[in-house]
Amino acid sequence: MRCSVSGCGNEADLARIEVSGRRVVREDAFCQQHGRISLEHSFAQEHVGSGSTTRLEGAVCFDVELVVLRFKDDCSDIFVREVGGVRLFQWRIGYYESLCICGALKIAPHPRPMTHEVPARILAALGGVLEYIVVDRYDEAINAHHAQLMVQHRSGSVQVDVRPSDALAIAIYTGVPFFILETLLP
Ligand SMILES: [Zn+2]
Repeated sequence: MRCSVSGCGNEADLARIEVSGRRVVREDAFCQQHGRISLEHSFAQEHVGSGSTTRLEGAVCFDVELVVLRFKDDCSDIFVREVGGVRLFQWRIGYYESLCICGALKIAPHPRPMTHEVPARILAALGGVLEYIVVDRYDEAINAHHAQLMVQHRSGSVQVDVRPSDALAIAIYTGVPFFILETLLP
């Protein structure tokens, strides 16, 4: 794949995938130099994020704004924007996990359940309702955040601990809001 900047012709280092309303709105491939310029440009333009209006005490709702697939580093960066605010939060995640998130942003509804729809289908089959997702903890020992799937069940509420990258894909497939605890925000 080649850099999409006219006249460049260098091999692409990254794909920059813009997201709005949980749908991909633009996708470009860039070489390292043009990728850096493009990302600097997008972060210089501060704007207010949109998404679910659901509120959760002590937490802030975020939604996907940008996915950067880094072909050579075998990883990706996911940027989520505060709904109704300007704060950005980012994770570096595995390349495969980011492809799952991109799949959720591109293909819906899919004729057969995709991998990240499976947990939600199991919960529903067992009588649970996935209400929302919240990133609630940072574990310094493993340098990673934890996310909880918050499920309502006739026996009460149930939490399921998952990785934020999986949680985000599940949120997109199921349409539930994605929160981050205020105490984890910079
Ligand atoms: Zn280029």
